[in-house]
Amino acid sequence: MSYLPVIGLEIHCQLATKTKLFCGCEIEVNTEPNKRVCPVCLGLPGALPVPNKEAVNLAIKLGLALNCEIDERALWTRKNYFYPDLPKGYQITQTGGIPIYDHPICKNGYIEIDSVDGGNSNNHTKPIKKKIGITRIHIEEDAGKLVHDFSPENSHFDANRCGTPLCEIVTEPDIRSSEDAVLVLQKIKQILEYTGVSNANMENGNMRCDGNISIRKSESDPFGTRAEIKNLNSFSNLQKALDAEFALQSVTLDGGKIVEQCTKRYDQNHNKTIVLRSKEDSHDYKYFPEPDLLRLCTASETIAKIKANLPELPDARRARFETAFGLSEYDAQVLTSEKEISDYFDTAAANSKNPKLLANWVTSELMREVKEREGGLGAIKITPQDLASMVNLITDNTISGKIGKTVFAEMLETGKSPEIIVKEKGLVQITDTGEIEKIVREIISANSAQWAEFKSGKQALRGFFVGQIMKKSAGKANPPLVNKLLDEIPLD
Ligand code: ADP
Ligand code: MG
Ligand code: ZN
Repeated sequence: MSYLPVIGLEIHCQLATKTKLFCGCEIEVNTEPNKRVCPVCLGLPGALPVPNKEAVNLAIKLGLALNCEIDERALWTRKNYFYPDLPKGYQITQTGGIPIYDHPICKNGYIEIDSVDGGNSNNHTKPIKKKIGITRIHIEEDAGKLVHDFSPENSHFDANRCGTPLCEIVTEPDIRSSEDAVLVLQKIKQILEYTGVSNANMENGNMRCDGNISIRKSESDPFGTRAEIKNLNSFSNLQKALDAEFALQSVTLDGGKIVEQCTKRYDQNHNKTIVLRSKEDSHDYKYFPEPDLLRLCTASETIAKIKANLPELPDARRARFETAFGLSEYDAQVLTSEKEISDYFDTAAANSKNPKLLANWVTSELMREVKEREGGLGAIKITPQDLASMVNLITDNTISGKIGKTVFAEMLETGKSPEIIVKEKGLVQITDTGEIEKIVREIISANSAQWAEFKSGKQALRGFFVGQIMKKSAGKANPPLVNKLLDEIPLD
């Protein structure tokens, strides 16, 4: 029997504030354990929380970028549970358990993806625009960390992370394939980066995703029972975990059994999902409105101001790259997928005589180098202005595209400007017809048999001649001129 998946995501990310959510402790990772702590984030008796305005503003900014309504009277709630990394014995969050307590800062938004629909649709080749609902975004504090590998017999507690501001983004179960789930996560990561709301770095754990999936036989059936797979830390793990769980649920139903609601994790070594616990109910957490905090009231002017200052978002930038620079949809999409690269291209393009050619250099040569380097774009010595100048040198025929590669390699190595490299290495293209003709004639007389064949119509030899001439000129002959001469010079 074949089934269709229904998927919804819960995405946690760390808000890019300087200090914690309810105290003034600085957020510092990879530091000495328990260095950044105070009575508030340690949950000492009598200590009272004060919300971090910057965190709230970032969450509102994200909500607006995700087309949400902002709740001007949001509510903090207390989620009670015991865990050794949670000194207070509760977490301050914005989920409610029952509707009257449920006032997250943002709700009812959406994003758009270019759905590939994973084979559910009849037309696989052309992506279609799909809206995915954003149910809610709420703010909450992170717990501390247990360290188990410090000594063999003890576990240790590091409270540095206690009280770090997070936001949780919950999507509607609107996603219909694991491929689309990846697109949703990518889109949200992009928006987090473009807005500066979070560093959204999945490797460092400041963004992680839980995938919820159920299956059903046809689109008109009601939703099935879902499994929630926790803490997926890469795009590929999200997709693989959803695919593995989809296969497992299919086998379960085919075997005449039912899928039970549960929380799982993904074991990447064995490519399977493993039950952590059967689903807890919200009343287990005994939610109630946080008594130490007032309602989180935001003036509509504040919201309007944040909205007016929203930066250009990925979709808008992609459209602008297409119209302003004449890029293909594909190039515009590649160039905007990461904010860093799109900023780089934007600056370079502002200095470019040929943005399309520049786009080719960025998407091929530059991005390949970026991928190979540890520090990414930050480790590249070529400034956007210099890359634009190099491509300008190609555009105005000062150097050939081939010499461009040599110059590019030298720029990478030394960080020098292309003009200086071209001058120092004598790489200026020969565009003087007389000079090129001299070289062409030398090559012709050294290969008279081939020349006769070429002139009698054997076009396949053109490449041979161009190659020889380029070699002789050390790559500096202007290829169109070379070709013109090969056509014009008669047999003898
Ligand atoms: P909880 O807070 O207990 O995890 P929610 O109702 O907030 O529960 O839902 C969490 C996620 O599960 C959401 O992303 C939602 O889209 C998704 N979801 C809900 N029902 C289903 C279902 N039947 N199949 C797949 N995903 C679902
Ligand atoms: Mg959940
Ligand atoms: Zn503190």
